This record gives sequence, structure tokens and C-alpha cells, in this order.
Amino acid sequence: MRSLFMLSMLTRAVVSCILSAYICVHPAHAGQTREYKNALVLFPQESLSAPIPRAIYFAIQSEFDKSPALNVSLFAENLDLYLFPDPGDKQAINEFLGKKYANTKIDLIIPVAPPSLDFALSLRNSHFPEIPIVYCAEVAHGNGRLEHRSDVTGAAVTLDFAGTIELARTLRPGLKQVAVVAGTGATDQYLLSRFREAFKGYAGKLDLIDLTGRPLDDLLEQVSRLPESSCIVFLFMRRDGSGRLLPSWDVQKQVSQAANAPLFSLFDTALSYGCVGGRMSQLEEVARKTGEIALRVLSGESAAAIEPAVIRGNPAMFNWRELKRWGIAESTLPPGSIVRYKETSHWGEYRWVIIGALAFICLQTLLIFLLVKSLIRRKRAEEQTSMIRQELAHISRVSTVGQLGHSLAHEINQPLAAMRVNAEAAQTLLGGEPPDLEEVRAALGDIVADSKRAQEVVACIRDLVKNKPPELNPLELNRVASDAVQMVQVEAASKGAAVHLELAEDLPAVYGDHVQLQQVALNLLLNALESVTENPYPPKLVTVKTDREADGRVSLSVSDNGPGIEPVIVKHLFEPFFTTKPEGLGLGLSICRSIIEAHGGSLSADSNLEKGATFRLHLPAGPAAKPKASSGGSKDAG
Ligand code: ADP
Repeated sequence: MRSLFMLSMLTRAVVSCILSAYICVHPAHAGQTREYKNALVLFPQESLSAPIPRAIYFAIQSEFDKSPALNVSLFAENLDLYLFPDPGDKQAINEFLGKKYANTKIDLIIPVAPPSLDFALSLRNSHFPEIPIVYCAEVAHGNGRLEHRSDVTGAAVTLDFAGTIELARTLRPGLKQVAVVAGTGATDQYLLSRFREAFKGYAGKLDLIDLTGRPLDDLLEQVSRLPESSCIVFLFMRRDGSGRLLPSWDVQKQVSQAANAPLFSLFDTALSYGCVGGRMSQLEEVARKTGEIALRVLSGESAAAIEPAVIRGNPAMFNWRELKRWGIAESTLPPGSIVRYKETSHWGEYRWVIIGALAFICLQTLLIFLLVKSLIRRKRAEEQTSMIRQELAHISRVSTVGQLGHSLAHEINQPLAAMRVNAEAAQTLLGGEPPDLEEVRAALGDIVADSKRAQEVVACIRDLVKNKPPELNPLELNRVASDAVQMVQVEAASKGAAVHLELAEDLPAVYGDHVQLQQVALNLLLNALESVTENPYPPKLVTVKTDREADGRVSLSVSDNGPGIEPVIVKHLFEPFFTTKPEGLGLGLSICRSIIEAHGGSLSADSNLEKGATFRLHLPAGPAAKPKASSGGSKDAG
């Protein structure tokens, strides 16, 4: 039984631990257990519509919102102390607030600025006994603990009148007068008394122009006619000399606009209302600190036990627009100064984007320039290369004609001899009685045909020898093959070789330069004839064949039964100047390949299965496959 009880206790403990851990890591669930608290913030003389109370209220609230354990409602009251300076009136407000919050459990009072603390203490006495007080923006004395109270805590600021005057002296060399502006409200008077105290230290150094307690119109008139060597210190003005109630921040703005001297102030929250700068009390920071301390007190810590926080330091803060207005250079500001509302120029704001974009554009321009330069250079090089190649092809053709000298002479001599025989026969026939005119006509016909043949051979030689740019036309590959074979017949016969021609029927036309393709065919044929002469035993055979390929292209192949191609030299065959012949140039095949490739085709070399080698060129069929007109070459190895 006892062990069962222990087990149940243990289980409960574990479950509760898991739940606690779960709540800790899941704020949504933690929120469900947040405790509700009410805090009352008391502003001395301005409502939440004014910039300072608004900034303070939201800074405290933002600290409260951070609490994972407490949900604090922040009530705000404006005590209007300047309106009711009479003790009886204050008592009436006290009673009013007591009634107003009679049914609301107030857990904490936050009086803002010195005049509110006394009121908060009397309110506590009358209506909220034992309720802790955490003050905000109290003015620190000594170590920050209020001299007259030890049972309250809060966050205090220091007011740096002397520092602000010193700042004005630094930025306005030759400063002789300080015009002090304050109204007749409670805060106005409090700050004025502190200022006067601080200004005693400047007796004999600076003159005081007293612009306190004046009607606004008069004040604006006065500030517009200040001596050149002066500045304004604006304290606070909730009520002017004529008893008019005014928003202090708006008065400060009007004074600044009307003034002919720069306006200095003491609170960072006033910086944006025409103030050039000052040694600023940081009200938002003190409010955040107040919120922090208030949370500790609301969580159960004793206010009396918490050391008050004092926000010291009063940094030199400036409004950039006012610095510009008064011609104060940023370089003259003390080190560590905070400059707000700085209008950054497009250059200032987007400097790195602009620099980046410019760098990118420059880089891009440079790249484009280099690219264009390289393209021009390449184009020139290509043009020049195309001219080293055209020239080479020409030399190679001339060399081929030289090689074929014997054959070509035979090709011309043969029709010339036939012409002579036919002419003599015609003469004899004409001398007969009667002359056999029919035979004479036939002999003359033969003479015409032979002269045409001789002309063709001469034209062919002339074309081969001429160095003219390629001319692309539709042409018959069969014609190229048969012309070439005819031209080497005598050469072949002299070598004891036979050349067979196998022409495919209905071969489609190719688009190309007749002379160049002729050159290729002749080159392959002469190489084949040279290789078959190495064959010790007949038959020495060379076969020229045209064909139509499965892929639609047309081909021309030259096969021989010579020694074939050594495997080690296959990949060098088409390299310029590669030769295995003692008197070879090594240019023929490389020129042939470049010609064929310029025609959009390809040239390959293979060893035959049995004996010899086959060189085969492929060309696209039909005029549609218009190649680039060039005798360009390739340095690729075969
Ligand atoms: P060249 O004829 O001046 O040597 P080519 O470029 O025409 O220059 O030929 C290069 C080389 O290719 C030749 O030296 C030879 O070794 C090889 N070759 C060309 N045709 C044949 C062929 N039909 N059989 C074997 N080898 C060949």
C-alpha cells in the first residue's frame, strides 16, 4: 500500500515536471498563466498627446510587454499641476483619482518627473495604502537615492545645464549671452530653478538674458532680436506669462523658427522640435529602466530594497537639420556626439550600390572592349589564315599539274593528233572524183569534237593553275570523278596501273567549287597511284567510286591495293607537312580535308580489309546544303 502511494506521488511529480518544462518552452501556454496587474502612471502637466509623455508611456509599456509572467495594464493620468497649484485643488484631484480607481486594484504607481512624486505619495496615503511607488525621470541627487525618501525606488536622470552651456560655447565661439526660456508651469519653474543654480558658475563669463515668464508673442519678438553672440536655452513652457496654456514642444518649435540664435535644450525627446542640440537627458532610456524596475516590484520584490537607477552620461546629441541651419560643421562636434535626423544624400544612402553598379558597368565595358578586340583580331587572323590556305591550295594545285605534266600533254596531244589525221583525211577525200562530201563532213565533225576536247583540257589546266577565289555552283560529283580519272589515265598507264571508275546512277548534285573538288579527287588519285607502284606484283588497281549514302549525303572514294596505312601514322595523315615520301610536301591531304570541310563535308582514311587503303569524302547533297565559300583548312589530325 505504502509503495503504491509512493509510486503515485512519483508519477505526479514527474508529470508536473514535464508540464512545467512544456510551459517554459511553449510561451502560448505560459501566457495562459500570466498574472494580471494594474499600474498607474502620473504625468505632471501634459497628456499622452504630447511627445514626452507619449515617448515615456510607450517605453514603459514595451518593457511590460516583454514579461512572460505578468500582463500589466498601464493607466495614464495627467495631473495638470500647473492648472491647480493650490493645495486645495491638488486635494480635489487626489479625491477624484481615489474615486476613479476605487474599483480598480492599482498595484503600482509611477510618478513621472519631480512634481509628480509628492502627489503620488499623498495619493498613496489617502487611497492606495502600501502600494509601491516606482518613479520615472526623477532628478538624481548624489547617488540617486532621493534624499527625502528611502521607501520608493525608480529611475532618475541627471540634468546637465553646465554641460549644455559648455557645448554652446564650443560650437559658438565668442558666445557672450545665454537667453533662457521657461514658462510659469510647475515643470517650467522647477527646471528654471535648477538652471539658475547652474548658471551661477558662469558669472563674469556669460550674461543671462532672462526670457522667462513672458507672453508667447513677446517671447517670439524677443528671440528674433537676440545679440549675434548669444544662444537660447529652452527649458519648458507649458504656460506663458499671460497665463495661456501651451504645448511646450510646440512653443519650442515656434521659438526656434522665430529665433536668430541657435536653441539648445536638455531632453532627447525635444530634439526634433527645432533644437540644435545639448547634453541630453535620455528620457526614453530612463522610461525603459523604470519599466524594468516596475516589473521587478510587480513580481514581488520590495521597492525599498531595489537600488534606484540613474541614467548618467548625458551624451551630446544634435539635430542634423539645425546644425546645417546654423552652419555648424559636424567636424566641430565633440567626439562621441549623436547626430539625429541626418538626411542622407542618394550618394550617402546608396553609395555602395552605386559603386557596385559602376564597377559592374566598368567591368562589363572592359569585357566587351576586350571581346570586340579579340573578335577583330580573330577575324583578321581568320582572313589571313584563309589567304596562307588559299595560297597553299594554289601551290598544291600547281604541283599537281606539274605531276600530271606527262598526262596532260598526252591529253592535249591526243585530240591534236586526231585533228591532224582527220584534216589530212578530209584533204584526201576532197581530192577524189567526185569528192566524198559525206566523209569530209564526218572528218570535220571529228575535228570540231577533238578541238573541244583539247580546249577543255587546256581550260582545266588553266583553272588549276589560276589562283582565283572559290566559286560555288551546283555540280555533278560523277563529272568530277570521271574528269579526274581521265586526267590521270596516262600517269596510271606509265605506272602499269589500271584505274576503274564506278559511277552511281541518279546521284544528286552537290554544291561546290569545281576546281577545288577536282583538286581533291586528283590528289587522292595521285596518292593512290603512288601507293600501288609500291605493290611488286600486278594487278596494280585503283578504283574510283561515287555513291549515295544512307544519310542522304553523296560520297566519292578512291581505293587502292597498295601497302595500306600503317596504324601508327593514321592520326597524322591529315596534319600539314606530314609525309612519308622522300620528296613529299605533306600538304595534299590536309588541303583536301580543309576543302571538303569548307564544303560542309568530311574526308576520312581507312585501311582496306585485305590490302591497300580507301580515302572517302562525303558531301551534303543538293543546293540546299550551301557550304561556306572558303578553302579553309583544319589542323586536326585524321
Ligand atoms: P604527300 O603526298 O606529299 O606525302 P599527302 O598529304 O598527300 O602528302 O600525304 C601524306 C601521307 O599520307 C603520305 O606521305 C603517305 O604516307 C600517306 N598516304 C596518302 N595516300 C596514301 C595511300 N593511298 N596509301 C597509303 N598511304 C597514303
